[in-house]
Amino acid sequence: MRVNSFIVIGLSLAVSSALLVIVFLLVSRVARRLSDAYHIIEKLSITDELTQIYNRRYFYSRLEEEIQRAARYLHPLSLLLLDIDHFKKVNDVHGHQVGDDVLIGIASIIKSNTRAVDIVGRYGGEEFVVILPETDEKGASVIAEKLRKLIERHEFDISDEKKINVTSSFGVSSLNMLAEDIPDKSRHIIKLADDALYTAKESGRNTVVLFSDGEPKQS
Ligand code: GH3
Ligand code: MG
Ligand code: MG
Repeated sequence: MRVNSFIVIGLSLAVSSALLVIVFLLVSRVARRLSDAYHIIEKLSITDELTQIYNRRYFYSRLEEEIQRAARYLHPLSLLLLDIDHFKKVNDVHGHQVGDDVLIGIASIIKSNTRAVDIVGRYGGEEFVVILPETDEKGASVIAEKLRKLIERHEFDISDEKKINVTSSFGVSSLNMLAEDIPDKSRHIIKLADDALYTAKESGRNTVVLFSDGEPKQS
């Protein structure tokens, strides 16, 4: 009788332990799947679907953070705004799919020729933006000029035999161009880069314009 009770208790303990292990394994598996799903959703929410670089929403939130950090520690920070020249013509002449491939190619050129700390995003249709932490306006102009040349020289394969070239215009602005007490620095640094980009377009395209001394200047 006593031996039987021991056997029953022993078996119950073994079964309960086995059940606990199974439940633990199942819960860990579900937790891992949830965590993977969370990371995938998080990445999707900050990524531009076509080019796989950051989207505009993420760019805005990072610009805000990076400006606050740079302003607090008096570090330099610059912004590049890039717009592909006559991009509508690329679509009109070669088709929307080729246009998409050019956008993917340009995103890849920018991404692979900037530092890991730089934040590369798609600002709009054929406009890209790069936040350059720890970079003053001179450094930013050099980077913009390097990217401009790389894009100009790149041959985009559009079919087995045909390649095309595109050019791009750049507007550059820096944090030190803003008055110290100016509120909403993000909006203003974008506005300066945008004004510089506008001047780049007006002055014939395929060029870099730096917003300095209160007005855009071709670099
Ligand atoms: P500019 O030199 O003045 O910048 O001229 P542009 O032709 O580049 O500028 P415009 O604003 O007239 O045209 C931009 C074109 O970009 C029109 C639009 O159809 C195209 N575009 C925007 N987003 C996409 C996209 O995701 N894929 C493709 N293929 N085209 C796009
Ligand atoms: Mg545009
Ligand atoms: Mg354009």
